[in-house]
Amino acid sequence: MIDQPTKERIRKLHPSVREEITQIIKECDIALTGRAKVRITQGLRTFAEQDELYAYGRTKPGKKVTNAKAGQSIHNYGLAVDICLIIDGKIASWDTVKDWDNDQVADWYECVKIFAKYGWDWGGNWKTFKDLPHFEKKGYKWRNLIQKKRDSEGYVFL
Ligand SMILES: [Zn+2]
Repeated sequence: MIDQPTKERIRKLHPSVREEITQIIKECDIALTGRAKVRITQGLRTFAEQDELYAYGRTKPGKKVTNAKAGQSIHNYGLAVDICLIIDGKIASWDTVKDWDNDQVADWYECVKIFAKYGWDWGGNWKTFKDLPHFEKKGYKWRNLIQKKRDSEGYVFL
């Protein structure tokens, strides 16, 4: 079963990926066989929220968390998700090497492979700014998305 916070975040993703991401998460949860389950910690991020994140380590104290300004993240279009694993229904984990189900493959990497099968890129493969919790639908560039018309709910027409 997909948990409630994850369901709510899926509901706000771009309509074109809602069903697919539901399928991906179900498949991940099956592959992980019980202890670890996927939770989406962030999906759609507004332009204002993006600017607030961008400020960390620049105009606000703290570490830099992103190189993307408003409109420059695929999250801003509801086409990216960040995940963690919930272990035994209670503990959030961002451990990308732990093998909770003892099948000799890190649970996180099992998810990476399933996302990839559906055409989602993993931020862990990025060269300059590795973003391990991050997945985004392949084939979209912000420079292109930012110019697109939006529907009445604010989602871009793809
Ligand atoms: Zn992300």
